[in-house]
Amino acid sequence: MFKMEVYTSDSSDTESREQKTLDYGRMDLTEITLDDDLHAKKALKTHKDFETLMLNHNRLVQLPASLTKFTNLKVLDLSSNRLVQLPDAICNLPLVTLIAKNNQLTNKSLPKSFMMRSVTLKELNLSGNQLTHFPEQVVELKQLRYFYAGGNKITAISKDIWRMQSLQVLSLGGNLISDVPEVVGSLSQLQALVLCDNLIENLPASIAHLNSLKSLLLHKNRLRHLPKDIIALKNLTELSLRDNPLVVRFVQDIAMTPPSLMECAARVIKVSSIPYGPGILPRTVIEYLQSANCCVNPNCKGVFFDNRVEHIKFVDFCGKYRVPLLQYLCSSKCIQPEPERPQTSGANGYMMRKVLLG
Ligand SMILES: [Zn+2]
Repeated sequence: MFKMEVYTSDSSDTESREQKTLDYGRMDLTEITLDDDLHAKKALKTHKDFETLMLNHNRLVQLPASLTKFTNLKVLDLSSNRLVQLPDAICNLPLVTLIAKNNQLTNKSLPKSFMMRSVTLKELNLSGNQLTHFPEQVVELKQLRYFYAGGNKITAISKDIWRMQSLQVLSLGGNLISDVPEVVGSLSQLQALVLCDNLIENLPASIAHLNSLKSLLLHKNRLRHLPKDIIALKNLTELSLRDNPLVVRFVQDIAMTPPSLMECAARVIKVSSIPYGPGILPRTVIEYLQSANCCVNPNCKGVFFDNRVEHIKFVDFCGKYRVPLLQYLCSSKCIQPEPERPQTSGANGYMMRKVLLG
């Protein structure tokens, strides 16, 4: 029934690790005490000798009370059980890795505070549960490097996520997220951002500040364009975009309604530098004139107000792929033909390895 093996002495790392592992994984257990078992096996070990406890792939609904006796536990794998609660006591263990994916956990099931005994947690996996919102207590974990909460029902990312400055992997695919807050762009260590299979329509321009980012997974969303500065992400080697409307939209010409007479007149005033001031024009008209935007076509000195042409421009990305970026122009005549692509020399130090558009 119990699988607790004591290995003979060998100083190799693997065996040393195995000796410190208590493995009850994949045993179809509905209940476990961990208390008597240790003594029953006469293993000459106590709870505190173990650094890894595997309880994954069982049918556990709750955790044994004796868990708190594993005072040196670093890795706890609870994945694929039927857990409805993670007791607060779990936070007294010096855990580095806590894997609780594929259970029945809700936001109420989680400890009120995730502060570990010495705030040691580096990896937390809550994927495949019943979370309906981003667990705010996670942002306390300033040392956390890997946070997985995919396959839940989370609708928004915490606006306090900027506090998680050690975060290298943020995995939130398969949720109901519609907005990505600007503060995500301040996670300077982030290497992988997984947001696929959500309801995202826009990405904040701050994404372009994620200089460590290597992998950005955005497939199966509602994106129509990307922030234009995203091409500045020199470390990005993987970008997935399939199943977003943006791919479809490039093929279509964007219809343009004619500008209003007000806009036509205002454009002429701006382009011809006709002087105006409070004595000449009403205040509202002056404010309108001051809201002019410059056309991004470098060969056009034009301006636009409310009536702009949204244009998707393909931009070379890392010398190999072209990605769609949104820009605004004053007129459809300002859409410049895409220049012939120069042959890539291969001299670039970096290359996109995967861009998945279709
Ligand atoms: Zn223009």
